[in-house]
Formats: sequence, C-alpha cells, structure tokens
Amino acid sequence: MEVCTVGGFEEVGKNMTAVKIGEDVFLFDCGFFLPGVIELQEEASIEYTVKGLRRVGGIPDDRILDKIGWTKKVKAIFLSHAHLDHVAGLPFLADRYPNAPIYGTPFTMKVFESLYKDTKIALRNPLKIIDSNSINPIPGIKDIRVEFVHTTHSTLDCTFVVLHTPEGKFFYALDYKFDDTPTFGAGPNYDRLAELGKEEVKVAIINTLYSGKKESNGSEKDADEMLQKAFQKVKDKGSAIFITTFSSHIERLTNIVKHAKQTNREIIFLGRSLAKYVDCAIQIGKCPFRNEITIMKYRGQVNGILKKIESNRDKYLVVCTGHQGEKNSILDRISKGETPFKFRQGDNLIFSSSVIPTEVNIEARKQLDLKFRKMGVDLQVDVHVHGHGSQESKKKLIKLIKPKIIIPSHGNRKQEEELICVANELGYKLGETSHLVSNGDVLKF
Ligand SMILES: [Zn+2]
Repeated sequence: MEVCTVGGFEEVGKNMTAVKIGEDVFLFDCGFFLPGVIELQEEASIEYTVKGLRRVGGIPDDRILDKIGWTKKVKAIFLSHAHLDHVAGLPFLADRYPNAPIYGTPFTMKVFESLYKDTKIALRNPLKIIDSNSINPIPGIKDIRVEFVHTTHSTLDCTFVVLHTPEGKFFYALDYKFDDTPTFGAGPNYDRLAELGKEEVKVAIINTLYSGKKESNGSEKDADEMLQKAFQKVKDKGSAIFITTFSSHIERLTNIVKHAKQTNREIIFLGRSLAKYVDCAIQIGKCPFRNEITIMKYRGQVNGILKKIESNRDKYLVVCTGHQGEKNSILDRISKGETPFKFRQGDNLIFSSSVIPTEVNIEARKQLDLKFRKMGVDLQVDVHVHGHGSQESKKKLIKLIKPKIIIPSHGNRKQEEELICVANELGYKLGETSHLVSNGDVLKF
C-alpha cells in the first residue's frame, strides 16, 4: 500500500490523499483552500479557473500524481462529506481522471453536483450516490471495496471512508466529532468502528484540529441550548432580529428555525449559499424546516424583502450569510449601506458561528463587528460549538479502530504534532507507527 499525501497536510483545507494498491489508485477528497472562497464566488459571481486556482494554491497540487505516474491509474474518487475544503476542488480537477467514478453519500453528492454546475465545466465521471454504512464494490476492480461509515460532524451525511484491500484496510477520518447527543440524525456508528478495529486497520489518516484541546468541544445539544438563551436575551420586541451561521450546517439551521418559530415572526433565509445547501437538503428529504421558511437568493428579491423588513422589523426574523465577514455576503452589504435595510440602535444580530482563524477572516469580522456596534446593534457572538472533536474524540477513534499506522492531516505543523503526542500516549512511535508528512510525500507500508 502506497499513500501520497497530496494536499491538506500542511494547512487546513485543500484536502486530498491518494492511495495505490497494485496498479490501481484511489483518491480521497479534493477541496478548496481558502475558507469562505466559494461564498465569495457565489455572491459576486466571480469565475475561477484551474490556472488561477493553482496560482493562488486554492486547490490541491495533484500534479504530483503526474510526476509519480499515478494519474492514469486513478480508478475511483471518494468524497467524505460536503464541506468545501473536501469537495470544491474536484469540479476543477475531475476531468484529469475522466474514467474514475465519484462516490459519496446523498447530501455530499447533491452539493458536489451543485458546485460543478456553478463552474460550467462539463463532467465525464460517473457519479455514484451511496448510503452511509454500506460496503460497495468498485466496477472493474477485483478484491477492493469501499465502505462509508456514518459519523457526526457539522453537515449532513458525513462519513469515514474505508478502503478494504488485499493489503489491509485504509481508513480516512476527515472530518468528524463524536457527538453522542446529536439533535438531528443518527450518532456515530461506534459498533462498526469497533468491528473494523478487530479486523485490523493498516493506515489511518486522522484530522488533527483541536488535538491539543483536552476539554470536550461540546455537542450540538449544547449549541441548541445556547441558541435558546440567545433568543431569550432579545429585549426590544419591536427590534430587528438577524442570525447568521454556516450555510451547510443543516442541523444548526434546524435548531435556529425551531427557536425562531417561538418569536412568531416570519422566517426569511437570505443569501445564495444558504439557498444552495438548503435546496440540497430538501432534494434528499433531510430538511425538516422546508415549510417554515422563505428563501431569497437573488439581489432584487433580497433587496425587496429587506425594504419590507426596514419598515416592519418586528414582523420578520432573518437568517443570513456573512458570519465570516465575507465580501458581498448579506451582512457585508448591510454594513456598507448597500441595502434598503439599515441596522439601528437596539437591533439584534446573533453569530451562531466562530471566526475561522485565518488573517482574512479575523480582520473581516473585526471590521464588521465594529461597524455594527457603532450602529448600536446588540451583538451576540460565538453562539456555537465546533464541528471538530477535541483530544477525546481523537483518542476514542484510535482506541476503536486501532490502526497500525497514523498520519495526521487537516492542520498546520503544530496541530499535527499535537496529534502525534496523542498517538504517543497511546503507544505509537514517531517515524515508525506515526508519521509527520508534507504535501506531496509518498509513503510505502
Ligand atoms: Zn468538514
């Protein structure tokens, strides 16, 4: 078994791993680098090209596969979940592997289809929509099967991807949080993970985010309670209420709508990326609030309703884009005075999100918060729990699946070293049974 760590091994984003068994190569994920880049793209209709994305390092540098002679051997591509740092690069690169079918769970594949339609790039790859907790053959490949094991994270239909091969099992654990009290959908499939641990997992790629954090990152049940309190804090009943969160976090949106309904206001979703993910959830029958909301995505529509809200602010509750201060998001446009709605003293804005810690996001949010505070808006921030598990989630996974080899991914060097420390505690040895790698490395096991 050979593993090429294509992208996401030196940063958070542009995740991609290639695994070679005999003469067959399999790809896991293919994501964007910059958080928020697609929201920017959608809101501003900027079109990206492969050349441009390569220049800014926005997609995994899969040209390494040309150098090592793997490109033409790619037989299948597996997508772990619907987040942009795992799927959004693929519409641009799939054509380099035209015969490889793309596998993913229903929500992941709906989001992927929606993304590639946006790019207007023609796609030749067959699409295989498969259920969580299923083991699937790969057409034309003998003795190798792919399994998708359900886990909790922060979007729908998230999975661990397991490649069953004659050379042992390869386990791909990006991204997850073990949430034992999810508020929508099933908990992690611990039984299956324990079974896999008994069958011997050869290599595991494991997410490193929050490996250094001992205390739990909390459950979505905690986020739900935080939301309830946030809504209770709204004092002036005649004021505007806006709330923003990650557009792909359907579970969180479900809870937001649940609490929003208590205000007896009309619930309006504003912004293209919210419309995109909610539509994907509706299409796969996993949007419990579909009849409770109105969605507006086009600028004319958005401005129209914002005009109404301006003079009837106690009649509406708005869920909108812009929690990272993304340019051209709804909140960004309101902050610049580009919409018919203006915040005023006593209005409410709830951030059911945390700032993704990149320079761009930190600065954008700082400026956004400052502007709104000056307007007298009552801001509630960090009404949120993370979708990535802390140290306890890493330990639990390692103890369940007992991999022979651990490779940290999805983090910078410091974060990856923290996972190496966790592995050390559990008996792994750096350089022997755990490996710190860079993008573009090739390892043989
Ligand atoms: Zn994710």
